[in-house]
Amino acid sequence: MINRRQFISAAAAASTASLLAQQSYEWGGPVLDIHLHLRADGESNLAHIHGSGVTTVLLTRVQSADQSKALAEKHPGRFVWFVSADVSKPESAALLTKAVKDGALGLGEIKNQVACDGPEMKRMYALAADLNVPIQIHFGDVPQASGNAVFNGGFKRFDTMLKAFPRTKFIAHADTFWANVSADYAYDTAYPSGPIKPGGISDKWLSDYPHLWADMSANSCNNFLNRDPEFTTGFLARHQDKLMFGCDCPCADGRGGGTTNPSPRLHGKCIARETLAAAQRMSKAEVFRKIRWENGTKLLGLPSQT
Ligand SMILES: [Zn+2]
Ligand SMILES: [Zn+2]
Repeated sequence: MINRRQFISAAAAASTASLLAQQSYEWGGPVLDIHLHLRADGESNLAHIHGSGVTTVLLTRVQSADQSKALAEKHPGRFVWFVSADVSKPESAALLTKAVKDGALGLGEIKNQVACDGPEMKRMYALAADLNVPIQIHFGDVPQASGNAVFNGGFKRFDTMLKAFPRTKFIAHADTFWANVSADYAYDTAYPSGPIKPGGISDKWLSDYPHLWADMSANSCNNFLNRDPEFTTGFLARHQDKLMFGCDCPCADGRGGGTTNPSPRLHGKCIARETLAAAQRMSKAEVFRKIRWENGTKLLGLPSQT
């Protein structure tokens, strides 16, 4: 098990050893990846973080918590972990509570076929506040080939939850969140293209609610970043204290190996690398530093200095 204090000492050690040895900060400094799923072979997770040049939050199902804990212990300073469970099951709250007591630093990724303002999720928002850990939510109102279902549906109404749970630290992720940066989102595709119309609810809610953060992982945020660079530069600056890099990348090696992403933009590429490069290109150095490291480490109570 690795908790915050152990991570701090491990990260301090790592700062003078493995982190510095690691390709001497390819991205200008350390990178926290807030969204990498635990793989069947945990060493493959290590290959990805080495290849893409990051430190990582592993997202694990509650059934695999022991595997994440073991990996974090084996590679000090490289992994911390979140935990998720099927929120429609009554026992989920107890299982998640136990995992947090065992060292999980957040609830996530929470991705079930429920409404974002339904009883199952309200219970999770209250639990996250009680445990004082963030909750990372996949918002998918438009069914996609993978999964072909709605997850945490009803994003348009999510502000009612932001109002109702002011003590909960929300991390928003996935296509419906990023598509709604544009005010003209029609819910007709998960990955809209073309110029962004200012005034979308995701943009507005990041400004209005201090307890809402955004996870920049996956095709969904990479698609957003590349739609309208001029708008995006302003968006990154505007929300520079709320945005956290993440990848959600399935590639083998942190260099795009083995990926078959249907998006031509990402085919054969590592999403971590593509998104870090885009964010770096579109933001000032101090903004990029917050995105790649400071916002995430601060939110998770990890040391921001290395
Ligand atoms: Zn997701
Ligand atoms: Zn990758």
